[in-house]
Amino acid sequence: MIVVHDLWKTYDMGSEQQVHALQGVSLRIKQNEYVAIMGPSGSGKSTLMNLIGCLDTPSKGEYWLNGHLVSDLNDDELARIRNREIGFVFQTFNLLARATALHNVELPLIYNGTHAAERIERAEGALRAVGLGDRMQHKPNELSGGQRQRVAIARALINRPSIILADEPTGNLDSKTGDEIMALFDELQAKGNTIVLVTHEPDIAEYAHRVVMIRDGKIFSDQPSSRVRKPP
Ligand code: ADP
Ligand code: ADP
Repeated sequence: MIVVHDLWKTYDMGSEQQVHALQGVSLRIKQNEYVAIMGPSGSGKSTLMNLIGCLDTPSKGEYWLNGHLVSDLNDDELARIRNREIGFVFQTFNLLARATALHNVELPLIYNGTHAAERIERAEGALRAVGLGDRMQHKPNELSGGQRQRVAIARALINRPSIILADEPTGNLDSKTGDEIMALFDELQAKGNTIVLVTHEPDIAEYAHRVVMIRDGKIFSDQPSSRVRKPP
C-alpha cells in the first residue's frame, strides 16, 4: 500500500530560482492495484516515481510505504525496503553488460547475502517465469530488446517485492514486443503484485486499471482506464 500525502518537491536552481516539480500530490494505491501515471514531459512523473521508489526525498509531505513512514527510516532500513518491497523496471533496462542473464538476475540476492545455491535456483526460476529458460547464459548484447526487458523484470521480481515500479518500460521496444512485456505485467498483477507504471503513451496506459494524469506537478485527473469501464 502506497500512501502519499501532500507531497512537494522543489529544486533550488540558485539565484533564488526554484522549480516546483511536485506541488502537493496526494495519492493512495492499494495492494494489487494497477496504476498508470501519465503526463507530458516535465510534468513531474519521474520525480514522483523516484519518491515512491524511495530513491529521493520530498521537500515536504508524508509518504507511507506498506505501513512505514518513509521519512522515519534510516539509510539501512531504506535500502532494505527498496530491495525487498519494490522491483524497479526502467526504459533502458539497466543491466550489467558483461554479466549473463542469470548473473544479472541473481545480483539483488548477492546484496542480501543469499547463498549461491539458492541464488541460482531462484534466478533460474525467475528467468523461466518470464519465458527465458533457454537464455540464462546469454549476455545483454546477445538478447533482443524484449528479452533484455524480461531479464530486467526477472531481476525486479527476484526478492518477491509487493510493488513493481516501471518507468516507460516499453519506451525502447517496438509495439509488438511492448505488448508482450505489458502482457507479462498483466500476469504479475493477476498474481497479486501492485503495479505502478509511468508512461506518456496512451496505448500503454490502457493496460492499467486506473490512470492518474499529472500536469505541472499536480494531479489533474484520476480515473479508471477504459479497459475497466463498463460498456454502455
Ligand atoms: P517528467 O518525468 O514528467 O518528464 P520530471 O519529474 O523529470 O518530469 O521533471 C519535473 C520538473 O522538475 C521539470 O521541470 C524538470 O526540469 C525539473 N527537474 C527534475 N529533476 C530535476 C533536478 N534534479 N534538478 C532540477 N530540476 C529538476
Ligand atoms: P521453479 O519451480 O521454476 O524452481 P519456484 O516456484 O520454485 O520456481 O520458485 C523458485 C524461485 O523462482 C522463487 O524463489 C522466485 O524467486 C522465482 N520465481 C518463481 N516464480 C516467479 C515469478 N512468477 N516471477 C518471478 N520470479 C519467480
